[in-house]
Amino acid sequence: MISFEFTREQEDFRRELRRFAESELAPKYTERAAKAEFSWEAHRQLAELGVLGIGLPEKYGGTGEADPVSLGIATETLAYGDVNVAAAPVQVGLVAAQLAVQGQPGVAQTYVPRLIAGEIVAAIAVTEPSAGSDASSLRCQARPVPGGWKLTGEKIAITHATTAEIALVYARRPGSQGHRGISCYLVPLGTEGVTRGAMPGMGCLPLGWGTLSFTDVFIPDDHLVGEEGLGFAGAMHHFDFSRPALGLLCLGAAQASIDEAAAWASEREAFGRPIAAFQGVSFPLAEHATYLEAARWLCYRSLWMRQTGRQHTDLAAMSKWWPPQVAKEAIETAWVTHGNLGYSTELPLQQRYRDVAGYLVADGTAAIQKRIIATTMLGRAAAR
Ligand SMILES: Cc1cc2nc3c(=O)[nH]c(=O)nc-3n(C[C@H](O)[C@H](O)[C@H](O)COP(=O)(O)OP(=O)(O)OC[C@H]3O[C@@H](n4cnc5c(N)ncnc54)[C@H](O)[C@@H]3O)c2cc1C
Repeated sequence: MISFEFTREQEDFRRELRRFAESELAPKYTERAAKAEFSWEAHRQLAELGVLGIGLPEKYGGTGEADPVSLGIATETLAYGDVNVAAAPVQVGLVAAQLAVQGQPGVAQTYVPRLIAGEIVAAIAVTEPSAGSDASSLRCQARPVPGGWKLTGEKIAITHATTAEIALVYARRPGSQGHRGISCYLVPLGTEGVTRGAMPGMGCLPLGWGTLSFTDVFIPDDHLVGEEGLGFAGAMHHFDFSRPALGLLCLGAAQASIDEAAAWASEREAFGRPIAAFQGVSFPLAEHATYLEAARWLCYRSLWMRQTGRQHTDLAAMSKWWPPQVAKEAIETAWVTHGNLGYSTELPLQQRYRDVAGYLVADGTAAIQKRIIATTMLGRAAAR
């Protein structure tokens, strides 16, 4: 037998977050989204709701056992109210899980409780000006020196670059090539030699997107996260979690848009009838409701596979290429259903469209996700 039910606790949690998303987040979504300022107030509310500690060790203030399905529920539900605020559990989950599992205990103890409490945010810095999709060709260098490493290089398109207290930075040992030789280092961004720059995009402004530059930045020995030279494999394992979570993030925003379009279609009249009476209006909404439902269960299945310890790299990649596209198209239909109002800044639809569009690229484009799926299906020949 199979079940598509969440547990009673998960259902209660979902209902609580839905109330919060509708009453607290949604009314100020567009106001927050218009500014390149991190929403600390909303972030701390998430901490109070327990959203930032899902699946993280209790000794650091988390809920305990890994719980990717609940994290997906939180992300999808919060995105119904504010897709930017909803990115927090994914980002905290990604960084804190790496620190808690692979970081040195003293370093994890310093930062993980503060991440869970919503006091600080962290960045993950992989992408460089000359290496994005082909992350294994990154150039940032960590040169061994007594007591640690000296880091030099540049990172680009980094979420929280302007606001983060710390970053997990991926860099290679001089002379190494490909994914071999890449390690993950925790870098406090106040360290001498670090500079940051803002790089505003077409959406996701509150997420403080930008650049990070490192010039001979000293990293002490205990700031290595995971094994030296195995940083790339470690990062890929964690992206298998973030991909379905980001898929659900986009779907939450799309569901809000389709619900708004359905309500508007029943209210707005044309040719003497509510526009919902025209199949030209109702059928696209029915089609998008179908795609959203299918995409949602793809993401949850991927998270469930992770929770139960099954291989899910291909499902995670499927959950990252398709759901953001499904979401973007659903939001487009929702604003066209609203006519001129949908295009106006009076409604949140255009803002959601621009915010969700970021996830067509963030964490790997559709082409890169399909490459991962094809490699799983066809072996390494598909990746050449
Ligand atoms: C909103 C947002 C947030 C982000 N946050 C972060 C972050 O926090 N940390 C971080 O490290 N990075 C982050 N990124 C960067 C993101 O991960 C990269 O932009 C992405 O991996 C693509 O790399 P690129 O931009 O260098 O594009 P490129 O690698 O130059 O790709 C350009 C185009 O070529 C295509 N392409 C490349 N190789 C192939 C191939 N083999 N087959 C088919 N097509 C191919 C791509 O699909 C793409 O369309 C973020 C990006 C965005 C938009």
